[in-house]
Amino acid sequence: MTDEQRKHNNAQKLTECNPILRRKVAAIIADLEGHGWRPRIQEAWRSPARQKQLLDDGFTKVRWGMHNAVTEDGKPDSLAVDILDDDQPNKESSKFLLMLASSAKAHGCVTGIDWGLAQEDRDTIRSAVAGRDFDATIEVGWDPCHVQIGGISVQEARNGARP
Ligand SMILES: [Zn+2]
Repeated sequence: MTDEQRKHNNAQKLTECNPILRRKVAAIIADLEGHGWRPRIQEAWRSPARQKQLLDDGFTKVRWGMHNAVTEDGKPDSLAVDILDDDQPNKESSKFLLMLASSAKAHGCVTGIDWGLAQEDRDTIRSAVAGRDFDATIEVGWDPCHVQIGGISVQEARNGARP
């Protein structure tokens, strides 16, 4: 998409987020843009029906996740977004993914870059992020573009916990 479309898309998707996450994701996007990337929020809030479809199709492992959070009156209050590299969507380089993980961490969020990996591979990623070695060779977990609020478990979020 053009930069104008991408920015419009990102602004729209941010409206579906919990206000605290919204500020953090806006900062992460600005951070990545400052390094020359073109981050695109692919998805923010998800309806229960869409979550079920993704579960049935094997794209998620949970029936209720951070994307499904709602306010007390049932409005979208997503605690997660998926951020793609608009220049190579769904084929993100490990450099983009490591920089996304680094910026997410700096803003109190976590990504799925190491989800499902062996401890050794998780340690390699942790070292690369800590040392800002974004050219490191890494194994990539199953949901590297997923960014969610840190410090709250899925179960806590489902029970109403918010940042
Ligand atoms: Zn996600």
